[in-house]
Amino acid sequence: MGCLFCNIVEKKIPAAIVHEDEHAIAFRDINPVAPTHVLVIPKKHVAALHDTTPDDAALLGHLVTTANAVARKEGLVEKGYRLVVNDGPDAGQSVFHVHLHVLGGRSMAWPPG
Ligand code: AMP
Repeated sequence: MGCLFCNIVEKKIPAAIVHEDEHAIAFRDINPVAPTHVLVIPKKHVAALHDTTPDDAALLGHLVTTANAVARKEGLVEKGYRLVVNDGPDAGQSVFHVHLHVLGGRSMAWPPG
């Protein structure tokens, strides 16, 4: 069975993919919490943000620029969007393959719950 998101990268599990390139893939969250909710993940398996090292700097930069490109393509940039990484149990991380949540399409509260 293995990692759920690795299975999406390998197309063993279907997903609504909105972007794919050599290093990253973006797909719609199966349980959206905003009108637009897309996950951006590295193709390489990294369990959590705290497992990344300075060697991952380029990859992490690529994930952020990809998230911004997705937000632009989804029409979120004018009104704004939120980028979220849940890292570890207190943050509510439930899938242990690094992912950026791109959330938009409604106004959001601060601080988050
Ligand atoms: P997190 O709680 O930050 O680890 O986020 C994991 C996200 O993955 C949640 O928002 C889930 O709804 C989402 N998710 C879980 N399984 C799938 C799936 N098969 N396809 C798309 N999104 C998923």
